[in-house]
Amino acid sequence: MQIGGFQKVTLLDFPSKVACIVFTKGCNFRCPYCQNGSLVLNTRDEQLVDLEEIFSYLEKRKNILDGVCISGGEPLLQKNIEELLIRIKKLGLAVKLDTNGTSPQLLKKLIDLNLVDYVAMDIKNSFSKYNVTVGRSNPFIDNIKQSIQVLEDSKVAHEFRTTIVKELHTADDILEIGKMFCPKTKYYLQNYEDSEDVIKEGLHGFSLDELLNLKNILNKDIPNLVIRGL
Ligand code: SF4
Repeated sequence: MQIGGFQKVTLLDFPSKVACIVFTKGCNFRCPYCQNGSLVLNTRDEQLVDLEEIFSYLEKRKNILDGVCISGGEPLLQKNIEELLIRIKKLGLAVKLDTNGTSPQLLKKLIDLNLVDYVAMDIKNSFSKYNVTVGRSNPFIDNIKQSIQVLEDSKVAHEFRTTIVKELHTADDILEIGKMFCPKTKYYLQNYEDSEDVIKEGLHGFSLDELLNLKNILNKDIPNLVIRGL
């Protein structure tokens, strides 16, 4: 396991649960707006976080915590992800998985093994703009479609989400994304926020007025759309 970061407590990242966050290293995308650039590009100077130290913490706190978020980077690129989830579940903790959707078979396997309780999958953009949005000439569109289907066919709680950037997303893009899954599925827009660790500088989020306008336009066609933080 390549673990680049560990957050001991979060009340925000796992719906209705007190959780911690494990950040895995490495990703097969290079989203220019990525907030974890050093984790993705492997430029962070710090040592890897020791997995045994994390489990020592989880053992002590398992009666206070409800669950563990596995984020990244892209967690499903980690060779020992299944073993990691088995160890967490043995402690009686719930697992939330964040994924970019590029590994549908592994996603299905982990769901079928009851190793995940909640999945948050990014849908980066309309498919015609996926490559520029993830910084890759091959953005694994077929895999993304399969992962959406895996989640929609499963009983696992899940959400889709899109980080929106003024330079990359229009209302039409979001409307196209909204057609990719059942209208009842939870769908979140997250406004881009600048940070020091971003992969490409010079990008912008939407203003409050622009977000409210987007919400008005989009909610007619995507009733379950929520803009986080509004
Ligand atoms: S935003 Fe997610 S998918 Fe994109 S590069 Fe960062 S970790 Fe990878």
